[in-house]
Amino acid sequence: MSNNEDLSSLASPEDRRAESALRPRSFADYVGQSKLKENLSIFVKAAKLRGEALDHILFCGPPGLGKTTMALILAEEMGVAIRVTSGPVIEKKGDLAGMLTGLADGDILFIDEIHRLAPAVEESLYPAMEDYTFDIIIGEGPHARSVPLALSRFTLVGATTRTGLLTSPMRNRFGLIARMDYYSHEELTKIVLRSASLLDLKIDQAGAQEIARRSRGTPRVANRLLRRVRDFAQVEGDGTIKKGVAASSLDRLDVDAIGLENTDRDYLLALLDKFGGGPVGVETLAAALSEERDTLEDVVEPYLLQQGFIQRTPRGRVATDHAWAHMGLRKPSATTRPRQKELPVE
Ligand code: ADP
Repeated sequence: MSNNEDLSSLASPEDRRAESALRPRSFADYVGQSKLKENLSIFVKAAKLRGEALDHILFCGPPGLGKTTMALILAEEMGVAIRVTSGPVIEKKGDLAGMLTGLADGDILFIDEIHRLAPAVEESLYPAMEDYTFDIIIGEGPHARSVPLALSRFTLVGATTRTGLLTSPMRNRFGLIARMDYYSHEELTKIVLRSASLLDLKIDQAGAQEIARRSRGTPRVANRLLRRVRDFAQVEGDGTIKKGVAASSLDRLDVDAIGLENTDRDYLLALLDKFGGGPVGVETLAAALSEERDTLEDVVEPYLLQQGFIQRTPRGRVATDHAWAHMGLRKPSATTRPRQKELPVE
């Protein structure tokens, strides 16, 4: 992808290394998403009482909100093994067969980006999810025949950035579809304080709150910003992360007071300045920003929508007054506003 390094809810290789140390390992450690946590802990208890596997579960929501973490916790709480993979990695039916046959009763197969499974792989997952069988083809040409292979009673946990991207036969095979929401400032403050103590960093409450406020409602971003601020606090401060050093270092990293980064501001600027506030199609915006449409829809827009900067309409994206005010631009009045060209309806 192009200029996407600063889209910090996506995991960089450095994040992946740092994340495993910071990942909560139990429901008790997992901050926020309290309703979901409560429901899942009941499902876990019930499945354990009955000695059965958990029902198949789908987590959806923007990157970095804790979908993988929750899948790992489910395995831990159930006392089963988990195999972690992702949609684009499973190229052939054979790859999936290898993974499924390696699972024991109750084990979890976690497929991240499940909406990106190849169609043939996805279809072979249906009987596996429903009847715990996998059809393997033996022989070639006219002599080829399909033989059902019995699988252990496993649990599939899928993760996707948007449920709308999933085919309905796939969606319908999940017993539970859970949406992950952005985290509140209080929850993110707890996450920052927890991570700081695991990393042995000195931080005060106001310093943690400042990082939380600028974290786009996303734990992954909170942990990344904490690591960056630590560098500034060590080199330029007395080693303790306080409000002042958190604010000044994040300003220097172009993370503004409410967590918008360059990519968010570029998006808003294009929408406001180039397209008069919209409506404009997402494809057109993606082209103007040299960004992929998926990245805009999965990472950039959900937070801007949640913060009330943009609206999605049938004719395209429209900026709200809040966006004009935040970017310090004057909204043109209806008469001075240039007529929009016809835009493709999405
Ligand atoms: P996703 O799979 O949704 O992209 P991850 O589960 O990989 O997100 O979460 C990214 C990182 O954020 C994790 O490594 C973990 O350190 C942190 N994190 C996520 N959710 C929570 C939470 N609820 N409490 C504490 N830390 C969390």
